[in-house]
Amino acid sequence: MILKGLQELKTFLEKPKKIVVVGHRNPDGDAMGATLALKHYLDKKGHKATVVVPNEYPEFLHWLPGSETTYRFDWQNSQSQRAINNSDIIFLLDFNALHRVGSDMQNTLEKYPNDFAMIDHHQQPDEVKYMYSDVAICSTCQMVYQFIEMMGDLDLIDADIATCLYTGIMTDTGSFRFRSTTSKTHRIIADLIDKGAENDKIHSNVYDANSYNRLLLLGQALSNLQILPSYKTAYITLTEAEKKRFDFQKGDTEGVVNYALSLKGIIFAAIFIEDKEQAIIKISFRSKGKFSVNQFARNHFDGGGHDNAAGGKSKLSMAKTVTKFTTLLSKYKTELETSYEN
Ligand code: 5GP
Ligand code: MN
Repeated sequence: MILKGLQELKTFLEKPKKIVVVGHRNPDGDAMGATLALKHYLDKKGHKATVVVPNEYPEFLHWLPGSETTYRFDWQNSQSQRAINNSDIIFLLDFNALHRVGSDMQNTLEKYPNDFAMIDHHQQPDEVKYMYSDVAICSTCQMVYQFIEMMGDLDLIDADIATCLYTGIMTDTGSFRFRSTTSKTHRIIADLIDKGAENDKIHSNVYDANSYNRLLLLGQALSNLQILPSYKTAYITLTEAEKKRFDFQKGDTEGVVNYALSLKGIIFAAIFIEDKEQAIIKISFRSKGKFSVNQFARNHFDGGGHDNAAGGKSKLSMAKTVTKFTTLLSKYKTELETSYEN
């Protein structure tokens, strides 16, 4: 764990400030929950906080309290730039390095003259002035709760903050099932329910918001599933044409990789998704046990993340990317065989 400058940060925040709160590119439930929760908290403390994310987030997160105040850097550029230029400090939430916001926003942030404060749970974070980094914590939302606790302000958590934090903890733990979910996580969740988070509604808003096309796309993904039992590995591909056929919307493929990991005996799963616009194959990796997909993604696919959930990309064609992946597996055969004991 890294804790740097938090006392100084607390003093800095004693007077009202203009603050921008940033999440990573392609924001997920944890990024949106954490940025919005922190915004609500800072506003309650008398600051003026604005959430700026690099690009759009899935529809199933648009109901989050405060979502309507968020700026997307790519298509609300002038508002985003103005908020950034006028701010006294920028919080970086749920990411560990500036390149994770994409090159346009990265360029703007690199010129930022004031200080950054990072709250994040990814490995090998870049150094900024104020840091709260802990790879052992399941979600940035849990860290924002603990940050508010460190500031001595738990009593400021209201229903909106509780709802945002619950959402990110829920999505980043696969609904409280990953190993990173601790008794402390459950105690925090209990407190968030006491403070007004409506657990049934949150689950339903996030997980029961499918379009018919999204289910058909999932059907396509499952019929593309390939299993390599000798490597305890399974992977899924989705081409741009398949995405088009089922009217792909942002967020539609979220969680699909977990179906590959749900197969009995499989401990390493990947999904390869063609993205014509960015001219890449976007990849998600998941594993069970000791096999680190963070290392695998860093070493071979220009990515990173956590030990059991990471992402990366490839500039090769889909066929060549898959061949590269399956060829690599033989190097990891022993690691894959011994990664996880049931
Ligand atoms: P997902 O597969 O859900 O997109 O991402 C899983 C985890 O890996 C997340 O924690 C995310 O931040 C991280 N991740 C995804 N893609 C990339 C990438 O291209 N580079 C890095 N460094 N991390 C990634
Ligand atoms: Mn996260």
